[in-house]
Order: sequence, then C-alpha cells, then structure tokens
Amino acid sequence: MELRKDPITRSWVVVGKEEPAFPAGLCPLCPGTQSQSKTLLALPPDGPWQVRVIPHLDPLYRIEGQPGRSAEGIYDRMELVGAHEVIVETPDHTRTLAQMSGEEIERVLLAYALRIDDLKRDPRFKYIAVFKNSGSLAGEEWTHSHSQVAATTFVPRRVLYELRSAQQWFRQRERCVFCDIVSQEQRQGKRIVDEQGAFLAFCPYAARVPYETWVMGVPHNSRFEIPDPMADRADLAELLGRVLRRLVRVAPAYHLVVHTSPNEYQKKGELHEYWRTISDDYHWHIEILPITAITSRSYGLKETYFNALAPETAAKTLRGLDAI
Ligand SMILES: [Zn+2]
Ligand SMILES: [Zn+2]
Ligand SMILES: [Zn+2]
Repeated sequence: MELRKDPITRSWVVVGKEEPAFPAGLCPLCPGTQSQSKTLLALPPDGPWQVRVIPHLDPLYRIEGQPGRSAEGIYDRMELVGAHEVIVETPDHTRTLAQMSGEEIERVLLAYALRIDDLKRDPRFKYIAVFKNSGSLAGEEWTHSHSQVAATTFVPRRVLYELRSAQQWFRQRERCVFCDIVSQEQRQGKRIVDEQGAFLAFCPYAARVPYETWVMGVPHNSRFEIPDPMADRADLAELLGRVLRRLVRVAPAYHLVVHTSPNEYQKKGELHEYWRTISDDYHWHIEILPITAITSRSYGLKETYFNALAPETAAKTLRGLDAI
C-alpha cells in the first residue's frame, strides 16, 4: 500500500488498499462496543458523551513514521502516513445529523474544529480533511451517524485547485474569490437556500450535481477551526441542520466536506507557492454534494460534470421545502 503521484494532474492516489470489509452484526460505533478503541475526544467533556472521536477501525493512513518521499524514475511515491479518525456524532444508532438539534450539531462542528486544530500541530501533515458520507449510495461504512477526519502528507487535488484559483484571483483583483461569490449571491438572491446570522447557504453557480449546496461564513476567514468573532457557530449549526433537512427530502445520500486552509506549519512542497497570501485569498466553506439516482452516472463516463438541474431551480425548490 502506498501513495503514488500522477505527474500530470499532480494528484495523489492510494494504490493497493483493499476496500474494508466490516463484519456484520454489532455496530462498532454504538456505546459499549468501543471499549477497545481509544477516545481521542469526547463532547461534552464531562458526563455522557454525545460526540466521540476514535481512531478509524481500518485506517487508510497510519499515524507512525515519516512520509518518506521517494522517486521511481520520473514518478513520485510516499508512504501512507497520516491520521484517520471517526467522529461518532451521537450515541443513538438511528439518529441522523439532519435530525439533530442545533445544539447537537454545534457539538459535531466543534469536534470538527478541535480535531483540525489538534492535527495541524503535527508538522508532518499538510492538510486535514473532514468529511461525511451519509447513506449507502455515498459509500458510508456504518449506518451509525459519523464523520471522518483524514490528516495527510499531501494536499487533496480539489483543494489544490481551489488554492491555485483563489491565489490567481487575489493577484489580479486583491480580493478573495469566495467573498466575491458571497456578495454576488447575496445581491442576486436566486441561488440562496437559507441564511442565518453571519452564514449563508446557496447552490453554487456551476453546481456539479443536482442540489449541490455550499454553506459558508460571510466574514472573510480562511480557517474553519478558528471561529470568527463576528460569526457564532450556533448559527452555523442551526443553518446546517435546516439545509440537511431539506436535502434529505430530495436525495437519499450525500457527501459533505469541509474545505479549510492547509496546515499553517507546512510551507514546503506544493504549498510553498500558495502560502504567501493564503490567509487573505482562501475562505473556508462546507460543500454538500447530494447523491440522487442521476448523480451517480454524471461524472465517470464523460469526465465532464453534467448536471440536469439548474442551481437556480434547485435553490428555489430547497427554499420551498419545510426545514423542520
Ligand atoms: Zn451504532
Ligand atoms: Zn473571503
Ligand atoms: Zn471547496
């Protein structure tokens, strides 16, 4: 098992990892079944936990060792060093994130922030990804509501694309592209799904899949894990809850991913060229990609996103749905 870099697209691919096969039966995320796994974080800190973070049961990355980059002719490879954790969002086996109260979702978001912040202290890691696969179509490993954290020695391809574009935009205009997007969405209104406090949810202009929704803070902030004094995370939690309650009515599954700035302690390698203006040009956001029956065949074959549903129509439908 190793990481191999595609020299053309510069993306890293995990090669040789078999799909994990978890035994059916007892859910390993339920209280009482996890005594063997170490608790990395529990919230609230005292009393019974609502959120518990544990090492992944079949991790893609191993915490020990050095990435040990080496070459094979023109190619680049690395050991699979990193951290892979599971955020158990609730002790209740059947409760979903969309069903949770604002206060409960806020705790899940706090766990995201605390794990990102903690893992960034390890200088080997370049990026900390937090994501959630919900529903079997999204490839979830357990039905028990959970998110995952992956700390990697490389920056994921999509984030690298974003850093590249954000930096170019900033060079040309001295403005953050995400701030520009937010202000245009607020001005036009037609792709907005919902808003609360300093947070906005909207269907992006070039949505890749039907009902794709982004949730982000209006004040400029490159780091999700460091809350903006102008933006109360409780508002983000309420908003995210309402957005998810709408989305689960139109799609049986979704991917959710937090995009935040790479590790501030890492300025080498692919980050070297981006780091100078990153805190000014990058802006955290949450991307939610619902999976509908037509989504699953939208990308693979033609390598171009094909989205049959205009984001303006999607936002209008979502606005009209009950979020209770
Ligand atoms: Zn369970
Ligand atoms: Zn911004
Ligand atoms: Zn993004």
